[in-house]
Amino acid sequence: MHPSDSGAGRYAPSPSGDLHFGNLRTALLAWLFARHSGRAFYMRVEDIDTQRSSLESAHRQLEDLATLGLDWDGDPTYQSDNFSNYAAALKKLPTFECYCSRKDIQEASRAPHAIPGSYPGTCRDLPEAVREQKRQELAAQNRVPALRLRTEVSSFTVHDTLLGDYTGDVDDFILRRGGQTPDWAYNLAVVVDDGAQGIDQVVRGDDLLSSAPRQAYLAQLLGLPVPEFVHVPLVLNQEGRRLAKRDGAVTLREMLVDAPITAVFAKLAASLGYRGVETPLQLLEVFDPVGLPREPFEWRG
Ligand code: GLU
Repeated sequence: MHPSDSGAGRYAPSPSGDLHFGNLRTALLAWLFARHSGRAFYMRVEDIDTQRSSLESAHRQLEDLATLGLDWDGDPTYQSDNFSNYAAALKKLPTFECYCSRKDIQEASRAPHAIPGSYPGTCRDLPEAVREQKRQELAAQNRVPALRLRTEVSSFTVHDTLLGDYTGDVDDFILRRGGQTPDWAYNLAVVVDDGAQGIDQVVRGDDLLSSAPRQAYLAQLLGLPVPEFVHVPLVLNQEGRRLAKRDGAVTLREMLVDAPITAVFAKLAASLGYRGVETPLQLLEVFDPVGLPREPFEWRG
């Protein structure tokens, strides 16, 4: 049987720096969930953010994941190769142009009944004459408008294997950023790629939980199946914030200066509640999703 006959999971790193303990833990969990359930496992380099991504970083990340002992099916895919798929998906969706700057949105979303951080709907119903004028103003600065989804709901519910049902806001979110170099937006790219790759299990950090309702709604609009979501707790530093490079020797490369890979792996496994396990295959044999810690893991160096 081809592995993808029973579905597929993935890890989707953004190549903007070396992977640290928290990233590696999420990657390991994504691999474990996929392999444990007999799914294929794909690696997808999320390099849509052209300013922050680099090919060199992508190569280092893939090397690190292989050093850790993770394997994946087929070659890694790169979002930068998929732009025509995003353009094709965009054509199927109800959209409108948005001329707002970040500042405009911040100011409008401070209004009394606005949902904090949500798009307040400023450009949704502008008359065509106003649009034309705004378009020209932007064109004079060599800029194009952003494109937003014309959303018909205000919230959407997804199911998460670890967290249960989760309902979150769905606003007129961005599908393509405006400006001088229009960029595809993360939510569109992820949904289109997951659909194209037959991903039916999305395991990732729980900082992305609030994006899941938007993505599930978008998948439904595009006629794609909504995947199983598994949002896993993050690794936090001692101040309770998400682990970051400045928290010390946290990248795999830094940790390998003082410790063999088996010791680094044992530390990752211990953070998931498994003692004395030194390789991904050993861990896979004993892995039980039900027993996973539900609390964030505190990094102590
Ligand atoms: N590229 C995102 C990140 O590195 C993950 C996106 C996803 O898994 O949906 O945080």
